[in-house]
Amino acid sequence: MTAGQGQPGPRAQALQPNLDDYTRSCREFTWEKARGMLAGMPGGRLNIAHEALDRHASGEAAEQVALRFLPRDGGSVVDYTYAALNERANRFARVLEELGVEPGERVYGLSHRTPDLYAAFFGTLKHGCVFTPLFPAFGPGPVRQRVEIGEPAVLVTTERLFRKKVADWVAETPSVRHVLLIGDTDETPDGTINAAERMDAVSGDYPTRPMDPEAPALLHFTSGTTGRPKGALHVHEAVVTHHVTGHYALDLHPGDIYWCTADPGWVTGTSYGIIAPLTNATTLVVDEAEFDAERWYRILQDERVAVWYTAPTAIRMLMKHGRELADAHDLSALRFLASVGEPLNPEAVHWGRKVLGLPFHDNWWQTETGGIMIANFPTLPIKPGSMGRPIPGIEAAVAEHTDNGIELIEEPDRTGELVLKQGWPSMFRGFLHEDERYRKSFAGEWYLTGDLARRDEDGYFWFVGRTDDMIKSSGHLIGPFEVESALLEHPTVAEAGVIGVPDEVAGETVKAFVALKPGHEADEALRRDLMGLARKRLGPAVAPRAIEFRDELPRTRSGKIMRRLLRARELGLPEGDLSTLEGGRE
Ligand code: AMP
Repeated sequence: MTAGQGQPGPRAQALQPNLDDYTRSCREFTWEKARGMLAGMPGGRLNIAHEALDRHASGEAAEQVALRFLPRDGGSVVDYTYAALNERANRFARVLEELGVEPGERVYGLSHRTPDLYAAFFGTLKHGCVFTPLFPAFGPGPVRQRVEIGEPAVLVTTERLFRKKVADWVAETPSVRHVLLIGDTDETPDGTINAAERMDAVSGDYPTRPMDPEAPALLHFTSGTTGRPKGALHVHEAVVTHHVTGHYALDLHPGDIYWCTADPGWVTGTSYGIIAPLTNATTLVVDEAEFDAERWYRILQDERVAVWYTAPTAIRMLMKHGRELADAHDLSALRFLASVGEPLNPEAVHWGRKVLGLPFHDNWWQTETGGIMIANFPTLPIKPGSMGRPIPGIEAAVAEHTDNGIELIEEPDRTGELVLKQGWPSMFRGFLHEDERYRKSFAGEWYLTGDLARRDEDGYFWFVGRTDDMIKSSGHLIGPFEVESALLEHPTVAEAGVIGVPDEVAGETVKAFVALKPGHEADEALRRDLMGLARKRLGPAVAPRAIEFRDELPRTRSGKIMRRLLRARELGLPEGDLSTLEGGRE
């Protein structure tokens, strides 16, 4: 059968969605009941690794494939059963123990997708340490900055990434006591340990530590509009949200073949690229390669993927390749498609229906929320362009700011800031070293998301934009300040202002405006030089795609660069009322 007809596979027809009645589920849901869906550990203790691995490794799913690894070069597929992945993670925990790493210390992961990254992730949690994923396409600048802020005891990376992004500066960051190499290592550079070899040498048993549910487990960095990146702290209890949202919003059933295309260097790639699929006893497909339309269709076909979680930029790239490529593949195993990270245009939902035979279900969340908060569910009608409705257990609203805090907007279709009632398990518990910033994220019992949205009369939420100058490019959240700082390192640059400009495929791309110091000439050679500097420091995902020279940049009376004005002029929008530009997605 070709995908064009888009009939669900036989397995799909036999399965009932996990969320059969939205209204009833919302009414009857409690987080206490959700906790009951997990195994837990004696004395009310919990460990994410125990829920994702140990309990399956000693149960019915022990011999089921937990992780199917597809190597980049077309080499043979490598399968890890739940028992095998658990054992590999135990070995990593043992290595940490042998090195004298203490529970509570931080372990950073900077690696492309390779099975030992997943083992390191869970080994870290088993040992009671806190794991921080770093995006491997970051340049050395963002990596070093995040290491300086979070002061990890251990950095897990590969030989190639170590040489390219870490070797030059790691001696100046005294917190890092051990650099552990995973993946292919030809030669172990000075100051590093071949972790893969060590893991082979130690015992495959390790008693996963029972943790206080409120003990830190994950530290995720997210960019801010001003200042340094923020480290959002999440606790072991977050696994309750991961599990239940995987169950309801991604409709994961035990035994499903599941593919999340997000890199584990970001929060989606950990919450839904590692944790939720394993707590829900699915088989996780991990592709080492980057996007390639034909390869992706082949994976969906050959692996018989049932649930697919991807992102609008990737969907738009597939759309550009036309339907013939899709039609040439058998996608009949697909049962549920979901998307996250940026606005999903209605055409993408329709395209999914027409070409893949199933619509994409958009859902919304962010690093700070730790898990999906608003979603389109299999049993509810999709309104294309809407992010959907709150998951059971989540109270979402739109609000306006008043002199005394916020006031909820009850009237439908009026735009305000999207706010969430505090108290779900995966809510971040702080920004590392930044209590004030954390406190400012709340107004009374409401968490302020920094997004603008409206709610329609049926209770569906619609994304409007951001309340700040953050840029979303190919799903990556980029803080303009970080890019401006890199450009200001160039000796000719006097001022820099960075904005997002609309892009058909990436949603937005980064554009920089630069004013030079007196005596310097704006020419093509200098533009190339600046581009090169930004790419080297920040990495290609964050560096500007365009740089425009200006004699000076517009500033407020207090001296802040007016990014919104730059953007208004760039897009030919009225400059009078800049509040209409809020969020920057018209
Ligand atoms: P991050 O913390 O990097 O995951 O980025 C979170 C931000 O991405 C949110 O605050 C939104 O601005 C944006 N975002 C996430 N999901 C969606 C969505 N479904 N529609 C529109 N914007 C989204």
